[in-house]
This record gives sequence, structure tokens and C-alpha cells, in this order.
Amino acid sequence: MPEYSISQLGTFETCPLQYKFIYRDRIKRYEEGIEAFLGQRFHEAMERLYMERAFRVVPLEELLADYEKQWAEKWHGEVKIKKEGRIPDDYRLMGRRFIEDYYKRHHPFEEGKVLGLERYIRFPLDEAARYNFKGIIDRLMLAPDGAFEVHDYKTGSTLPGQSEVDADRQLALYQVGVQTLWPEAKEVRLVWHYVAFDLEMRSARTPGALEALKIEIMGLIDRVEATTEFEPCESALCDWCPYWDLCPVKKHLLKVEGLPADEWKDEPGVKIVDAYAERWRRKRELEEEQRTVDEELEKVRAAAIAFAEREGVQVIAGTGRRLRVTGRERVVSPAKGSEEREALEKELRALGVWDEVAMLDPFTLEKAVAEGKWEGEVLERIRTYVRTEKRYTVTLKEY
Ligand code: SF4
Repeated sequence: MPEYSISQLGTFETCPLQYKFIYRDRIKRYEEGIEAFLGQRFHEAMERLYMERAFRVVPLEELLADYEKQWAEKWHGEVKIKKEGRIPDDYRLMGRRFIEDYYKRHHPFEEGKVLGLERYIRFPLDEAARYNFKGIIDRLMLAPDGAFEVHDYKTGSTLPGQSEVDADRQLALYQVGVQTLWPEAKEVRLVWHYVAFDLEMRSARTPGALEALKIEIMGLIDRVEATTEFEPCESALCDWCPYWDLCPVKKHLLKVEGLPADEWKDEPGVKIVDAYAERWRRKRELEEEQRTVDEELEKVRAAAIAFAEREGVQVIAGTGRRLRVTGRERVVSPAKGSEEREALEKELRALGVWDEVAMLDPFTLEKAVAEGKWEGEVLERIRTYVRTEKRYTVTLKEY
């Protein structure tokens, strides 16, 4: 089985199709969000700072000058800014501020011994080494009290709550890796540096929590391995996805966005959607009108019944039409899902008359087959009666 990383599994959970593009089809894209670009430059600055620390403390000015140099050298045309009104310098200056704040807070960087920087680790999750995991620890430290510390830099603009940090899977898995690779690491602390807020957050995991996490991750890996249909899953993260040209959810939007304004309306897809939207609007209007008429009709109907009862008539005369009102007693069974309904069903089975009144519920049957409720001979025999067909849903959405 291949090795997995947390970002790989996270991608699968967020959008299976994007996962397929990246990890199965290995389609390379060079587009990069500026947030990721900034994150990389910050990580490089930290790596340099701590690498040099064995010899000296890098002066802040030197660290910033190197950051600027890396920013300029590594900048490329595929760095994208998604936030409207923002320019590259906004982010470059933000990165400078992150470095300055971090530097001032941690100077002279004597929080322990550096065991590894951007340390690549790979380790099994189970004894048989069937499930293998890999990751890169930003900074692995040996604290003065002998504990191992896994440090991670976060340059994003969202500060999680402590409960989210306590549920974070990435560093917890790195803890599993650290304790597998270095069994002497009895105590491991997980440390996040939220540099946009100049804030440090910490978390610790119990052996039980790590075992549960391993089981969860192995289950997730099984799901990935068993997946054959990689569906697109649209979310806010699509804005940072570089595969719009291949994604069935986005590729038409991308195509029409690139058209000159005067060609928009004549594009075949655009014409279909506009026609659909127009019919949909009319349908909604008619439905609204029908609802009003139905309500009025119900009131008149109630008035007719009351009139017929009061006057003792079955036919009421109008100007051009007559209204026949007939009342008939009818047997009403208890509502679906109610206790009475359940009791009645039991009673019908006990009386041996269930087959006379029960009917196949096609919806429940189709759902059970689709979700793999049965297997083996049961499924095989049912399958001879049902068939698979593609059903489409067409939904109109606002941009
Ligand atoms: S654009 Fe969105 S839905 Fe399409 S592959 Fe990318 S993340 Fe998935």
C-alpha cells in the first residue's frame, strides 16, 4: 500500500476529484496561492534561523534581508492573489511582520536543542506495516526537561480554538511517528506557532487518543484505497484549486469567464442556462399562483361542505355549474412512524394477513442495493430484477 500524508488524506476528504488529479493522475500544476507562497518563505526563514543557531544568533536584519531575497528570487507568474484589492506587497510585508514578531518573542532561541528542521519522517501505523505514513516536521526539539516537542508554523489568518487544536490530526500523527522512530521520547508536546497572531498554542495526547487516531486514519486509508469514483466536492476551497480546467464543476465557468462580454450570451451552455433560468422563474410564479388558488379553493370547499350539511343538500346550484358534495366514511390507518402504526403492523403479521396489505417500497429497495446493504446470493438474486440507470438532477444556482 502506498504511503500517505495528512495533506493527502485531507485533500481526499475535501474533494476526492482534486485528490485524484494530484495523487493518482499526478497532474502537475504550478499555480500557487500567495498565502502558500508566503508560508513557504516564512518556513525558510525559520529553518535558516534555527540551522544557524548552533553557531550564532542570526541578526534580525540579516534574516529579513534573506527573506526579501528569497521572496524576490522565488516569485513566479503563477502566484495567485484571490482576495480582491490585495497586492503582492501586502503579503510580503505581512511576512516580514510575522518574522519580526516571532523573532522578538523567541530571541535568543534557547528553548531547547534542535533535533531536526523540516524533518521528513515515515513510519507505520500498524504492527504489520500495512499502513504507512509520512510527513515533514517543521522543527523537532528536545526541551530542557527531556520532552520531545513537535513545532509547527501556521501563517494563516484563522486562529483555532483550543478544542480544535486538541483535535488536530497532523501533529498527533507526527507524535506517533516521533515515538515510533525514537522510543525514548516518552513525553511529546505539540506546539503550534500562529504567527499572524504572535501566539503559541500547545496540546498533548494520551496513548488512548493516539491509538484511536491510528484506527481512524487506517479506516480513512481503506476508504481512499477502495474508492473508484472520485467525485468533485465544491467548497470555498475551490478558489485555491488549480484544476478548474479539468473539473466538471468548474471548467465551463472557466471557459465562459475567458470569453469577451459580447460573446457570453451566445455561448451554447450560457444560452441553455439562461433559457432554463427563465422557465424556472415562470414555473415559480405559476406555482406561487397555484398555491394561492389552492388555498382559496380549500376555503370555498369548506364553505360548500358546511352549506351542504346545514341545508341538507348534496347538490348546490350555481349560475353555470352545479357543485355535488358527497360525504363518505373512510377507514384511516395510523400515520407512518407512529407507535400505533408499529403496533398495527405487528398485529397484521401475527394475524397472518400482512402479505395481503404490504407492498414493495421501491425507494427503500433501491437505496439498500445502492448502499450495498446485501451481498452474495441475496444481492445477486435481487440484481436480476433491478437495473442501473443514470439519473440527472439539474439545479439552478446563483453565482
Ligand atoms: S475546483 Fe473544487 S470541486 Fe473541482 S476539483 Fe477543484 S476543489 Fe474539487
